Amino acid sequence: MTSVDSIVQAAPAATCTPDLADGPWTFDLQPPGYGPGASMGDTIPDAAPRQGVLPEAYTRMSPEELDARIVAAKRTLGDRLVVLGHFYQRDEVVKHADFVGDSFQLANAALTRPDAEAIVFCGVHFMAETADILSRDEQAVILPNLAAGCSMADMADIDSVEQCWAELEAIYGTEPDADGRVPVIPVTYMNSSAALKAFCGDHGGIVCTSSNAATVLEWAFERGQRVLFFPDQHLGRNTAKAMGIGLDAMPMWNPRKPLGGNDEASLRDARVLLWHGFCSVHRRFTVAQVEQARAEHPDVRVIVHPECPMPVVDAADESGSTDYIRKAVEAAPAGTTFAIGTEINLVQRLAEEHPEHTIFCLDPVVCPCSTMYRIHPGYLAWVLDGLLEGRVENRIEVAPEVAGSARVALERMLAAKP
Ligand code: SF4
Repeated sequence: MTSVDSIVQAAPAATCTPDLADGPWTFDLQPPGYGPGASMGDTIPDAAPRQGVLPEAYTRMSPEELDARIVAAKRTLGDRLVVLGHFYQRDEVVKHADFVGDSFQLANAALTRPDAEAIVFCGVHFMAETADILSRDEQAVILPNLAAGCSMADMADIDSVEQCWAELEAIYGTEPDADGRVPVIPVTYMNSSAALKAFCGDHGGIVCTSSNAATVLEWAFERGQRVLFFPDQHLGRNTAKAMGIGLDAMPMWNPRKPLGGNDEASLRDARVLLWHGFCSVHRRFTVAQVEQARAEHPDVRVIVHPECPMPVVDAADESGSTDYIRKAVEAAPAGTTFAIGTEINLVQRLAEEHPEHTIFCLDPVVCPCSTMYRIHPGYLAWVLDGLLEGRVENRIEVAPEVAGSARVALERMLAAKP
């Protein structure tokens, strides 16, 4: 099996940083950061959770010892436990998952196991929050490494969004127009904190995923004159552009500037206000990489994730969610060549699962999502051993009032499904 981990260990110099070859626990002891990988240059908020020291025994175990420990713990815990693995997790973790998918698929998968006492979410913090919101109160949702945040989600904090909202209300007022549409509807991407989902629930807004963003924007435009879309500018821009909205009607909101860096006139003309957030993993993809793939493989099919910048999406043959990408690969005739612009663990796994195709990552440099990469089998073994001993480590709990409002926004999304 050629996992990303095995590539990193064999050739650390060929990756975006040789620090990837170190155990993630090395970075738990350093000043707060997202760790090595694509988002390592981003700023981690002061309020982000901190991972404590992983017991040394888990840092010293061989991969085989960790595997045996995880398998034994899962066997003993049986139906009391469900382990969820995001597509972007390393293979060494994914192989222990009962369900593998994107964040929303996994939250729904957890709902199929209402009797499980513990849901171990091998993903990032906002995903564990969503699972906690949707699961029963008695179920404990566990994030094996608390440092596994999401740098994009962390680019929109609730205080900045509330400040933005107050500034927008001062300009637009709060009264609906003659068609009953309110001045602005907040839309948050699934990749956001529970507090932002709750904000949307409380302000007539909604959640979207990368699969249903267009449906959700249509829902919002039926109810509002314009949309405030956070935190990912690229998903918002790519989706709105495909719906025919001009770029000049999509000003960016930079929370560090008055009026988000805009003047009142442009805000009045706006259809979609784009928060100044992005995914550092998908921002690595470039038009030059697409051109190089086409030059080297004239018949290549280029598929990128809509979190990529607009010029990259425009240069690609298709764009879509992780689920879209997986299905496109599965449905293609044998012998298809794919250049894929999304997180390397997913691309590498698709290449392993589909030897009938040629599949490679658009970015020739191996650079996984640094926050996803904080989950290592050592942390998974540690939290499972804790459960065996009656300890719940790293529980993620969303306050009931926040969870209630966030659930409203999530339920609107489910109801908006075409
Ligand atoms: S890939 Fe991007 S959006 Fe996904 S968890 Fe990593 S930083 Fe966040």
